[in-house]
Amino acid sequence: MNAPQDAAIPAASSAALAAALSPEQTAELLRELARILPEPALLTRPEDTVPYECDGLAAYRQVPLAVVLPDTEEQVIAILRLCHRLRVPVVPRGAGTSLSGGAMPIASGVVLSLAKFKRIVSIDPLSRTAIVQPGVRNLAISEAAAPYGLYYAPDPSSQIACTIGGNVAENSGGVHCLKYGLTVHNVLRVRAITMEGEVVEFGSAAPDAPGLDLLAVLIGSEGMLAVTTEVTVKLVPRPQLAQVIMASFDDVEKGGNAVADVIAAGIIPAGLEMMDKPATAAVEEFVHAGYDLDAAAILLCESDGTPEEVAEEIERMSEVLRASGATRIAVSQSEPERLRFWSGRKNAFPAAGRISPDYYCMDGTIPRKHIGTLLKRIEQMEHKYGLRCINVFHAGDGNMHPLILFDGADHDEWQRAELFGADILETCVELGGTVTGEHGVGVEKLNSMCVQFAPEEREAFLRVKAAFDPARLLNPDKAIPTLARCAEYGKMHVRRGLLPHPDLPRF
Ligand SMILES: Cc1cc2nc3c(=O)[nH]c(=O)nc-3n(C[C@H](O)[C@H](O)[C@H](O)COP(=O)(O)OP(=O)(O)OC[C@H]3O[C@@H](n4cnc5c(N)ncnc54)[C@H](O)[C@@H]3O)c2cc1C
Repeated sequence: MNAPQDAAIPAASSAALAAALSPEQTAELLRELARILPEPALLTRPEDTVPYECDGLAAYRQVPLAVVLPDTEEQVIAILRLCHRLRVPVVPRGAGTSLSGGAMPIASGVVLSLAKFKRIVSIDPLSRTAIVQPGVRNLAISEAAAPYGLYYAPDPSSQIACTIGGNVAENSGGVHCLKYGLTVHNVLRVRAITMEGEVVEFGSAAPDAPGLDLLAVLIGSEGMLAVTTEVTVKLVPRPQLAQVIMASFDDVEKGGNAVADVIAAGIIPAGLEMMDKPATAAVEEFVHAGYDLDAAAILLCESDGTPEEVAEEIERMSEVLRASGATRIAVSQSEPERLRFWSGRKNAFPAAGRISPDYYCMDGTIPRKHIGTLLKRIEQMEHKYGLRCINVFHAGDGNMHPLILFDGADHDEWQRAELFGADILETCVELGGTVTGEHGVGVEKLNSMCVQFAPEEREAFLRVKAAFDPARLLNPDKAIPTLARCAEYGKMHVRRGLLPHPDLPRF
């Protein structure tokens, strides 16, 4: 999101965060960090630490006490052990593109940047795997694997910048995840360091590992359980051919229903994305993707495989789309045209930034059959909150990204944008969905987590966190709301008419 400076929200409030260091403790921390790291790898002056004050969710800001940029695993271990001993919170950071404030610093804490871990350790074309350090950019893995005819399938729109360490922490998705799976389906092994400085291997080089599937627990844990220092990813062969259909609809609900129809017909497209009219208008001005600007919504449906497979699938998808009410169908006739169609979708967020001073990107997921319903409800909310919203999303996964347009210089607009966003997420839950698809909870969706999960479930999450990090120092107060926070939000679940924890004050 673009940054409404005056709406900035300070750091959160748990005991770990509130405990500011004494001058003596701060001096000891900085003295010991300077022993572990060479001078340029330890940033403490405000002009050096301010660039780390936020991530992609720029409404939430906090300058950290220090930023460390280690380049060896030994340094990471030593930093974590030191911070654990001194009870200093640590926030791991990749490229800082998180849209949920996952990498937002803590005032009395240290930001642990993995930016210098950008080595591709090895590529094995026989086992179709790559071992990479966490600071390697998502796209750089596919670029390195290209000479072997392979690539890394999960492709967040931020893939030119975001790192695999961030992808693991957020269980990131992308256009091609409908067919090829999310990060969790494409990572075999993670090497990581706990807050106490212990090296742990999750998963293995083999397709399955013995014991509990802790790899799946780590992936998507938002940097709260351990710091990733090495990742083994799966690579897949580049398809011989890919073609994309652009299907136009004169009604967003019809477009939404067509998504469910394609999947119901037994087709799993390589990508299935949807954009509404305001989104295509914003994007077209920006990248000239060749979109149908008269359509109320367009679907982009990709097929990949051998030329024969693609020809057959494109034919079947076109039939389903026509039967679902598509008013126009255009199929990419060359690779540059296919990339042009996708360039619009991939640039939708920056395009929103061109038509509004600020935008707030939501990330809820719903069952596909309810896409049309949610779009209609969002339309009504636009009137209710007096703000515009453009819709662009991973339709095949039911993962919605409404972009609420507002002016951050106007505090009232920012407050309405926040309420609008919370309303969308609560509607996702009501429709049988969830408050996050791929951007994580971070600090952004803590209140929405109160709506989705009962206190017992949240307590179970906290117990998992405590099993890895009993002192609650690693990226604390992200992703799991405290009981008190949910009480403040006033949304605690009421069972049999009895409010849980009636002793807690409610506002
Ligand atoms: C324009 C734009 C488009 C986007 N499109 C998509 C999309 O299509 N799909 C999608 O899923 N996301 C998308 N995102 C969100 C974002 O890019 C992803 O969440 C990404 O995985 C974050 O990676 P990062 O390296 O920037 O991590 P950061 O933002 O630096 O950190 C994200 C989280 O990961 C943790 N973390 C980072 N590195 C490590 C590590 N080594 N060990 C432990 N924890 C770590 C941090 O503490 C934080 O909680 C988009 C963002 C932008 C700005």
